[in-house]
Amino acid sequence: MNSTEIDNRIIDGKGFAEGLRSRVAEEVTALKASHNGLTPGLAVIIVGEDPASQIYVRNKNKQTIEAGMAGFEFKMPEDTSQADLLKKVLELNADDKVHGILVQLPLPDQIDEHEIINAIDPAKDVDGFHVVNSGLLATGQKAMVSCTPLGCLMLLKDRLGDLSGLDAVIIGRSNIVGKPMAALLLAESCTVTISHSRTRDLPDVVRRADIVVAAVGRAEMVRGDWIKPGATVIDVGINRVPAAEEGKTRVVGDVAFAEAIEVAGAITPVPKGVGPMTIACLLQNTLTACKRQNGLEAD
Ligand code: NDP
Repeated sequence: MNSTEIDNRIIDGKGFAEGLRSRVAEEVTALKASHNGLTPGLAVIIVGEDPASQIYVRNKNKQTIEAGMAGFEFKMPEDTSQADLLKKVLELNADDKVHGILVQLPLPDQIDEHEIINAIDPAKDVDGFHVVNSGLLATGQKAMVSCTPLGCLMLLKDRLGDLSGLDAVIIGRSNIVGKPMAALLLAESCTVTISHSRTRDLPDVVRRADIVVAAVGRAEMVRGDWIKPGATVIDVGINRVPAAEEGKTRVVGDVAFAEAIEVAGAITPVPKGVGPMTIACLLQNTLTACKRQNGLEAD
């Protein structure tokens, strides 16, 4: 396969996300002009010092500001109590300048994650993790949709157009990726299979798929010979592995990219695939939340 053929198979999530972010920024400018300076505001709460979470939160805040929105960052210590975190969430629910609230996961062990997420006003739940939003999504109603699966769906529709009737296999059944991804693809009339660690003959299950979404957290687990020729592969995984250079690491996905690209019709790389879409969709959700909270039309 020559390099042009390879390039054509790579789904450029980074480029798509840049386009989405600039469309959101234009809408924010228009909203401010037409509604007396109305500025979408995103509040991010981070508890503890997890280095990966710190990087995500810094990026989220930077891109929020770049999109012309207001960014509010709340750093709370590792030993924060359930009551204190709940109090912060309730404060932000009541704050008119805040239209979106995101509590960075994972949370320390002393915190009941479900209670915290479900305390967020569903209208401000820009991560789409609240039971009300997952219920709305599951029943085909207008919901705030989790950012990562939403970004995956945008990439799939951009590449394939109508997804109706396609066989989709999702690997992973988490509440933040696998399950909402399944609900979204079902709503697009795909025939959806959700696989997980107890699935029998996983390679055979994956070989049936026109669309594969891998959200496992295991470096390069999905091999090239698991992929049906021409299938579209979305790799959500972010796995840090040792790099060739001593002491350094690099990031790889859940799919063995070099093998899979030889077979797939299209594939997202890691990095520069799904990752950048997640933050872009977070910004879009914040804009949507702001519009809805102000009685304005939003998709
Ligand atoms: P979870 O750990 O919550 O879920 C992983 C899923 O993979 C589980 O359902 C688990 O099955 C399944 N699984 C584990 N081992 C196997 C196996 N050997 N065969 C088949 N299935 C298996 O992970 P998340 O959904 O939160 O994240 C998945 C990956 O996506 C991670 O690498 C994460 O870093 C990445 N991620 C990337 C994002 C982005 O912005 N690009 C955003 C969110 C996540 P079981 O339920 O049976 O245990």
